[in-house]
Amino acid sequence: MNAYKQILIAVDLSDDSQKVCQKALEVTQGENIHIFLLHVVEFIYQMGTSYDPMFYPSLDDLSENEEQLIKLSKEKMAQLINEMNIPTSITLESSVLSGIPKTEILNLAEEKKVDLIVCGSHGRSGFELLLGSTANAILHHAPCDVLAVRTKKSKE
Ligand code: AMP
Repeated sequence: MNAYKQILIAVDLSDDSQKVCQKALEVTQGENIHIFLLHVVEFIYQMGTSYDPMFYPSLDDLSENEEQLIKLSKEKMAQLINEMNIPTSITLESSVLSGIPKTEILNLAEEKKVDLIVCGSHGRSGFELLLGSTANAILHHAPCDVLAVRTKKSKE
């Protein structure tokens, strides 16, 4: 089997993200490995828990909140990278994008021609289904191999 060299790790920045990243590092072998670490800020989803149909933020509020979320995500991402202890044989490029997670993940995989996508089997939104909806979409539409790391919401 050829070793994976261009790996995309998708993280939702939940508590399981560290486990997903460690698993990705475990399956990498050899030299010239490049990791793309991606988090996608999905703005409407993030507002979900306090949704009030009578509350319509102005566009200015919206972009301000979005900027705030992106800033927060970048900070969490930096913390995650710090905890990953990346070996010197691996180069890492991280991005925080906004949009629909499955779309952005699949687009980046195509654009960077990665040979493996690593994600969690379940994320923040995961109920006890076989796979979370983002993981399911990645598995069905990825242009390459996919490693779905079993996370704690997986059904035993
Ligand atoms: P889900 O299918 O939403 O339960 O999440 C499963 C996995 O998809 C997570 O463990 C992440 O690897 C990935 N994922 C979900 N949401 C995002 C996101 N907003 N940004 C990047 N990756 C995500």
